[in-house]
Amino acid sequence: MKRVIAWSALTLTLLLVQTAFAELTRLADNVYAYVGSQDASPAHSFAANAGIVIGQDGVLVIDTLISAKEGERFLADIRAVTTKPIRYVVNTHTHLDHAFGNCVFAKLGATVISHEADQAMLAANGANILKNIGAYGLKPEDMVGTEIVVPTLAFSQQLSINLGGEDVRLIRTAPSHTAGSLAVYLPAKKLLFSGDILFTDFHPFLADGDLKGWAKTLDDLLAMDIERIVPGHGPLSTKKDLQEMESYLVLFDTKARELAATSQDAEAIAAKLLEILPKRSLATWMVAYNVKSRYLEKK
Ligand SMILES: [Zn+2]
Repeated sequence: MKRVIAWSALTLTLLLVQTAFAELTRLADNVYAYVGSQDASPAHSFAANAGIVIGQDGVLVIDTLISAKEGERFLADIRAVTTKPIRYVVNTHTHLDHAFGNCVFAKLGATVISHEADQAMLAANGANILKNIGAYGLKPEDMVGTEIVVPTLAFSQQLSINLGGEDVRLIRTAPSHTAGSLAVYLPAKKLLFSGDILFTDFHPFLADGDLKGWAKTLDDLLAMDIERIVPGHGPLSTKKDLQEMESYLVLFDTKARELAATSQDAEAIAAKLLEILPKRSLATWMVAYNVKSRYLEKK
């Protein structure tokens, strides 16, 4: 009996460990996704995903998590699969949970790349966000060693990187989750790292979004030759999830607008939205936050 209890305690601990931190998951010989965290707390980068592409000439890192500490953990896991130099960091966008670990990789000499709109956003807001990190649910000790590193290479439409044996395309067709959110496409592998253009099983963060442009972006991605997708948050996905994301956005925008015309109660509106939105099991609190930030009068 004692042994049974000990075993179940161990199993539970292992489960918790597995879901608290992302792990490198091999998608191809030279491509890994950093996924699997279901701990949507700020101390775990709000469960943001990341990834790496390994070319003959070095490594390209896709997103860097929320802090120097989280970036270091990611780097240690990268070093377990490759010792090649880290040449590039691509920020799918520059929200803190995807870009505040940039400093770890910039110190190694990596060139940090983003769309020009998100380069400007981080340059304008990054230092302030770091200074007021308490507002994002983090403590100063979580951010020890974190410095804002603004991307030094930015583009407006599309940028291709030949990593030595792997063609990597950065694609942004319209403003979406942020003005400069981009997706990283590996045409030879039919693989896409979508950043926060796609949230799977998480309620998405909509406050900085352009919902019309976001729907267009999803249509553009749906038209591409893609088999597997690493979303910004959530498990490995497919085109079916892009489609559901678009339905979610359209439904949210239509209904929230309708409900906000007769009520200023964010929680009540959120409860009604949750009845009709496509089901997601994580970050339910985000729905009321999105209602408040986009549809209710600022007071
Ligand atoms: Zn984001």
